[in-house]
Amino acid sequence: MEDFHFPSQIKLLNEDNLRLDGRRLDELRPIKLEVGVLARADGSAYIEQGKSKILAAVYGPRELHPRHLAQPDEALLQCIYRMATFSVEERKSPAPSRRETELSKVITEALAPAVFLKYYPRASIDVYIQVIQADGGTRCSSITAASLALADAGIPLRDLVSAVAAGKIDGKIALDLSDLEDKNGQADLPVAIMPRKGLTTLLQMDGMMTREEFIEAYELAVKGCQKIYEMQREILIQKYIDIQSEASEEADEQENGG
Ligand code: ADP
Repeated sequence: MEDFHFPSQIKLLNEDNLRLDGRRLDELRPIKLEVGVLARADGSAYIEQGKSKILAAVYGPRELHPRHLAQPDEALLQCIYRMATFSVEERKSPAPSRRETELSKVITEALAPAVFLKYYPRASIDVYIQVIQADGGTRCSSITAASLALADAGIPLRDLVSAVAAGKIDGKIALDLSDLEDKNGQADLPVAIMPRKGLTTLLQMDGMMTREEFIEAYELAVKGCQKIYEMQREILIQKYIDIQSEASEEADEQENGG
């Protein structure tokens, strides 16, 4: 089989196959998740994945404007992905770029299969994604956060959607590439899955891999998605434990006060 390994500009792996940030090849970047972070949104979530920081806000189901876009048999899911001007090293123009328009579409298509859109004919479900700091893998982190925000909004879902990319750096398959690895590596393979349903809702590829490398990268990304799914579940369960304990504290206070 032809070897697609082109040497990187910089060395991304040391002799022990450790990456520049000290990770093993199959390791995710550190992930922090939060839900219910915005008071005015119907649902919201925040994700930090390595140095990438992203907010997702969900509004709806609500009346759709302009009305002629309404679909008679289901809701219209619209995700809008935007990068803040200060999210990258050189100031990004505030005008929506082609890349942001493409990613908005890709993210919408990755999330739509998980949402019971038929429950809300003619309505709109809007997901606003704001990248505050970008360091690679933002489409996947956006999907992970947006799916949490949809759940936080109480929108009926078939499953959560969990996403992460795998790629090829210094000729080896690696999980969750940082911006530096993405730019200096040989390939990037973003994947989103509905973990309980076993469905893949996003599969893209940038760069070149052999068939065997592609399979290895896809399987590694799916394993990464499953780990992220566990974190998503935990944060949602924690939210309801917090609500429950707040409610019982309030009830106690009322009882003691009265
Ligand atoms: P993803 O963020 O999903 O990996 P890309 O592969 O298109 O999407 O982008 C990789 C990374 O390149 C981004 O995460 C970000 O760190 C960086 N990047 C994207 N757009 C810009 C830009 N306009 N200026 C500087 N860096 C950018």
